[in-house]
Amino acid sequence: MASIFLKPGKEEALLRYHPWVFSGALQSAKGHPEEGDVVEVYSSAGQLLGVGHAQVGSIAVRMLSFEAAKIDVDFWRQKLQSAFRLREKIALSEGTTCYRLVHGEADGLPGLVVDIYGSTAVLQAHSVGMYLARHELAQALRSVYGDSLKAVYDKSAGTMPAKADLNAANGYLWGEKQAELILENGLKFEVDWEEGQKTGFFLDQRDNRSLFERYSRGRNVLNMFCYTGGFSVYALRGGAAHVCSVDSSARAVEQAGRNVALNFGSQAAHEACAADGFDFLQGAAGKYDLIALDPPAFAKHVGAVKNALQAYRRLNALALRQAPQGGIIFTFSCSQVVSREQFCSAIFSAALDSKRSVRILHRLAQPPDHPVNIYHPEGEYLKGLALYVAYGEISCKESRWV
Ligand code: SAH
Repeated sequence: MASIFLKPGKEEALLRYHPWVFSGALQSAKGHPEEGDVVEVYSSAGQLLGVGHAQVGSIAVRMLSFEAAKIDVDFWRQKLQSAFRLREKIALSEGTTCYRLVHGEADGLPGLVVDIYGSTAVLQAHSVGMYLARHELAQALRSVYGDSLKAVYDKSAGTMPAKADLNAANGYLWGEKQAELILENGLKFEVDWEEGQKTGFFLDQRDNRSLFERYSRGRNVLNMFCYTGGFSVYALRGGAAHVCSVDSSARAVEQAGRNVALNFGSQAAHEACAADGFDFLQGAAGKYDLIALDPPAFAKHVGAVKNALQAYRRLNALALRQAPQGGIIFTFSCSQVVSREQFCSAIFSAALDSKRSVRILHRLAQPPDHPVNIYHPEGEYLKGLALYVAYGEISCKESRWV
């Protein structure tokens, strides 16, 4: 196994169990480690700090263990078993057959995502090391789940670093496509992990969709950036008067329609529309008194944060302006590089721009199957606010705070 030695003092982060070694911390290497290799990491004084996957880029090693370890099928099995035990403890409802089993650093498996859809596991590698381990990982998954697992699908083609040049192709590592409806809190969804975005479904909004359901009775609901219609289906079960689902992807909008029909038939009070979110909101003044605003990540790297914050501000100011008296907006950011504080301050600016009276009802986050490793706070990526919107003193005809 190749070894990496850190500069003096650079072991501090690893001694606090932070799972990344930055390239600036490297002093020297022995054994010519290549991207994806398992390497041992040592302090400048020669103390073994652990074992990880080598990478090319600003993160040079992603740690798999903070002690000596042999990285083999048994190692993966133990990690997956421990991830599974956590999911058993978080009380998913009986009517839920989909959840995230592995959430990267939070499960001690940096660079790996595994989502479970009924009897299929969808694996997504975000590092070369995890990609190279995919067959061992599939074997370990089978030993954790036994007969209840029928297929393991690898969806890493779009998430491998482009420079790695591995020609990764998506496909089944084991088993074959299962024709199966997925249940989330008793609601039915078709999930297309082969063609859909991410691993096929946004599992991270499960708890926020449930809360949304509780606000939807009698409301005119807009599910903006609806993808496959998660918030729409919950709103209809919650008794919404009407739901409109909007996404720029025609394919997503069709799927949203199918998911609504699966649960409530073709006569449901629902319409789906392929449109740009900003354009649609321009024409939506006063129409929707419950809005989900769940845009794609506006910033994928630190350099894009400033522009992303501007975009969150503009989008939310528009939605706040259009909300009727007593409207409620669930607004989100899933950009990992945008902090909760930055997001809240963008919403604060949006509120000022809109001249509306805005109150925070709930602070929203990712659910417990997407946990945050306390030693890796960067893992908190989904943040949101549920807002109550009224006319403020500044703008309005109804010049009182209601
Ligand atoms: N709320 C969804 C997930 C949203 S993901 C759920 O619960 O499943 C973000 C979505 O925004 C994607 O489906 C993407 O197609 C859509 N999108 C991206 N840019 C857009 C734009 N400018 N206007 C409308 N939709 C957009």
